[in-house]
Amino acid sequence: MADSAPAGAVTDDPFARLEGPLAGTTRMRLTVTQNRPLTPALQQVVLTAPELAGFRWRPGQDIMLMVAVADGRPVRRRYTIRATDPEQRLVTLEIVRHGNEGPGERWVTGARPGDTVEGIGPRGKIFLAPGADWHLFIGDHAALPAFFTMAAALPAGQRATVLLEIPGLADEQQPPAGDVSVSWLHRGSRPAGEPGALAEAAGQVPLPPGLGQAYLAGEAKAVLALREVLADRGMPGDQVSAKAYWGRGRANASHGEPARD
Ligand SMILES: Cc1cc2nc3c(=O)[nH]c(=O)nc-3n(C[C@H](O)[C@H](O)[C@H](O)COP(=O)(O)OP(=O)(O)OC[C@H]3O[C@@H](n4cnc5c(N)ncnc54)[C@H](O)[C@@H]3O)c2cc1C
Repeated sequence: MADSAPAGAVTDDPFARLEGPLAGTTRMRLTVTQNRPLTPALQQVVLTAPELAGFRWRPGQDIMLMVAVADGRPVRRRYTIRATDPEQRLVTLEIVRHGNEGPGERWVTGARPGDTVEGIGPRGKIFLAPGADWHLFIGDHAALPAFFTMAAALPAGQRATVLLEIPGLADEQQPPAGDVSVSWLHRGSRPAGEPGALAEAAGQVPLPPGLGQAYLAGEAKAVLALREVLADRGMPGDQVSAKAYWGRGRANASHGEPARD
């Protein structure tokens, strides 16, 4: 598998036309302007493109980067939009350095200012529930960009609780402003994606009165386990927005989502 073939080597692109689930998205020729470690396991990547001047997106949405080409087909990976600056035409992403082999990991390790990469966005259909009195976010490190961007966008009077499993203390970030409480779970030497600690925390977190909405994101089986915990606690399915971001021990499919059997 070739991992960083030039865009010209693409002969078979299922997303050559932005239609169906990609209707309303924009194809961008992004240029890396900055790539630096924000915390030991999280890389902050800032990119620019002319298309970002009029780019509209909602908190929680993402951009799909073409991080490699294999046998003429693009390999894409999805990363949440952390911030944009329309005047400067910038978008900021935060990408976990998970340390396993993977085209996304290789791309972020090697990306230097001046490098170009194709992006398609905004993607994603999970948004803040407008009528909720409180919001509960549970997930792993890859979910931090989505959860913090969404929590920061909550209107005054809406409360957010965030449970995040991260490698350790040095990967904690300043919580978003507002009525946001963050509980960090340090996984230390435990492998990423094991559901145990997050599921236990999800089983104990207070569910306040009023209408709540939960958002789950991270490793696919962990997300399933978290769904079950919340169902057992009486949260109806329509009050839980869940998204599998990656699969333990298994590369995502070339469209950027966990591969299905
Ligand atoms: C809608 C959406 C939004 C996302 N937003 C973000 C984001 O903002 N930031 C972010 O970092 N990720 C985000 N992700 C997750 C990211 O796209 C995946 O982690 C992806 O698998 C990374 O690709 P890769 O090529 O590095 O690894 P892959 O080729 O997919 O996998 C290779 C190996 O790495 C392991 N692996 C992959 N991801 C992780 C991980 N996070 N932790 C530990 N092991 C891992 C796999 O289990 C596999 O063994 C998002 C995913 C989706 C679907």
